Amino acid sequence: MTCKETQTFMDGYLDHELDLVRSIELERHLHDCAACAALHRSRMAVRTAMNAESLRYRAPAELKHRVRMSVAAGERRRIRFGWMPAAALAAAALVVLAIFVRPDRSRIEREVVDSHIRSLMAGHLTDVVSTDQHTVKPWFAGKIDLSPPVQDFSAQGFPLVGGRMDYFDDHAAAVVVYRRNQHVINVFTWRAAGPDHSARTMRDHGYNVIQFVRDGAECWVVSDLNAEELQQFARLAHLEN
Ligand SMILES: [Zn+2]
Repeated sequence: MTCKETQTFMDGYLDHELDLVRSIELERHLHDCAACAALHRSRMAVRTAMNAESLRYRAPAELKHRVRMSVAAGERRRIRFGWMPAAALAAAALVVLAIFVRPDRSRIEREVVDSHIRSLMAGHLTDVVSTDQHTVKPWFAGKIDLSPPVQDFSAQGFPLVGGRMDYFDDHAAAVVVYRRNQHVINVFTWRAAGPDHSARTMRDHGYNVIQFVRDGAECWVVSDLNAEELQQFARLAHLEN
């Protein structure tokens, strides 16, 4: 087998798609040809890297549960009504809606939690990375019509990580990021449309959410941190203006 043939058949070989004779010829060539052997090693390395656990996104348990429940419900529907492609498509559309839409969940809550999840997945947690409140606070100037509270709570175990801007469909939000051990806390702030009110707590897709309006600023605190410690953090942040 020539070098060119070896390179042509390499992917098929790695996918175990070659017949026995070709596989043996290719292996013989790899044994004799340093260049093709090196190519083979690098392809193997890429495959190993692509199988790495860190590249996989594990679905949250709650999402898995909802998908299973929805699929099971779809199955029951299908059995009851018989096999109708149009009905099946409609059922599939309902399944998708059921997963992503929760009726008692406000649009803003959805946007805030989605933004929190995006910030963790895309590696786009911060635009300004600093543990210094005197660096983070001025960074927001001119980007939004309020000055979000920024304070380093390192002494209390909630160190400041940095900040970023986020844009929902009708407004900009200042996001100040803190950590509690390995847990990220996103604090979203924007000019409130309604009057001040005290904190409400919610649980959404496995995340704890605290929302309040104070001094005309609407504030949403989102994290996978446990509710008790997030409350503790919110009390600290609430005191600071
Ligand atoms: Zn070769």
